[in-house]
Amino acid sequence: MPITRKKIKSLSSIKNKENLSFFLNMAKDIQEKQGFLKNEDIKSLANRYGIADSVAISILSFYEMIKFEKSDVKYVCKAPGCNTYNGKDCNFINCLGLCDHNSPGIFNGEQVSFQSDKISKIGKTKILNSDNKNLYLLNIKDVEYYLDKLNKLLEVNPNNLIDNIISSNLTGKGGAGFPTGKKLQLTRQSKGEKIVICNADESEPFVFKDRGIIDNNPFAVVSGMILAAHMVNAKDIYIYIRGEYIKQKEILKETVDIFQNKFKGFNFTIVSGAGAYICGEETALLESIEGKRGHPRIKPPFPGESGLFNKPTIIQNVETMGWIFEILAERPSIADRRIFSIAGEVNSKGIFETDGSNSINEIVAKFAGGFANKENDYFAIIGGASGFFVNSKQFEKPLKKLLENKSGAGSIYIFSKYDKLKEIMLYILDFFAEQSCGQCNPCFLGYSKLKNLISNNRFEEAVNLSSSISKSTLCGLGKAGFQPVSSFIKIVEGEYFD
Ligand code: SF4
Repeated sequence: MPITRKKIKSLSSIKNKENLSFFLNMAKDIQEKQGFLKNEDIKSLANRYGIADSVAISILSFYEMIKFEKSDVKYVCKAPGCNTYNGKDCNFINCLGLCDHNSPGIFNGEQVSFQSDKISKIGKTKILNSDNKNLYLLNIKDVEYYLDKLNKLLEVNPNNLIDNIISSNLTGKGGAGFPTGKKLQLTRQSKGEKIVICNADESEPFVFKDRGIIDNNPFAVVSGMILAAHMVNAKDIYIYIRGEYIKQKEILKETVDIFQNKFKGFNFTIVSGAGAYICGEETALLESIEGKRGHPRIKPPFPGESGLFNKPTIIQNVETMGWIFEILAERPSIADRRIFSIAGEVNSKGIFETDGSNSINEIVAKFAGGFANKENDYFAIIGGASGFFVNSKQFEKPLKKLLENKSGAGSIYIFSKYDKLKEIMLYILDFFAEQSCGQCNPCFLGYSKLKNLISNNRFEEAVNLSSSISKSTLCGLGKAGFQPVSSFIKIVEGEYFD
């Protein structure tokens, strides 16, 4: 019987006590050589780790990128706006984080763009406001600058550095917005060996700003990791990068090699994900590095007290690592600044740095080369799939105002036409239904039901259901659907036209 992810997903969680560290990485290494895992590979992996074959299959089938059959197909992103490729010889898969390219996909182990009969390699993410003098994280300098600054900062007392981060009010830029200084302090104060993890598992549809930062300024990101390690007194630094970010993994590896040569005391390990959105959730990410299915853990304990291999662990995303360096190296009061990606129906797509004072109209005009068609009426989803929709009336408000009290990663995706609004809403619900880890029924079953209600315009029931899903589930994915659903309905019912 063929192994499928869906079937295995409903099994109860694996409670094995075996040490499965890097089980997934090892499986991916084997897969890379031959394109898929044979039965004998699974058996030998299971043997090596002392687990039953069925347990090995259960873990591996959790990850979309693990293949059990020979496959040399083209993978094409199926997100609305991306799936313009007409070829029949492809598999459509969830968002690849390449929203700034036409018909993006993966072919022969590379990130590519499919255009009619041509396949072209994808290049570096564009910085849209690179001519702006007031850039910080996107003002990229030679590597010597970062090495030199780091050298000096590693001489400073870690407690003083943490105080600087606390007084800068820096918050995590992955979406949840937890104060970074507090996390550093908590981890430093915990007992035992500490670990630093950079979360590069950016897998949210419509968001690609972390990819853009790695493409353009990996030096600040790696410097931030080393500074975080210095502040919490850690030697071991892990980078967990989404499996689809193939080029970015290489960039980080090259950068780590440069820094590790200069600063000897830090041990870096790069772990590649395998196509599971939920592994961006910090405790699911820990489970994945430990070699298990990416099931979020119950908190407390928080990772700062007991994280990877039960050691106190600080986890920060790519952008936050970059800001840690910028704040400590240069300017202690820039915590309001963020990096956003912008894509969809604009003339120029890429990333930009902002303090949030610009409106969407200004951003599109100044940075993104204008709307693709001046005649259209536009909508946007801000903050990725778990963000919220706005209509063109709100394009005049400063970004900061739109984002007030809302979580989400830095992303703006512009689209026109009312029909597209519903198409995107349904795509998001499909995405969450597919990416649910299956531990909580309200999330596992709820998102499909929610899609059904929205398809049939049963909006009142949809709001009630999304609200109860968000209150009764374990992790952020269960809470993610509420914002887009309620803002979608507000627009549909005409409430959002102030
Ligand atoms: Fe898994 Fe969803 Fe529950 Fe999160 S909310 S633990 S993704 S089932």
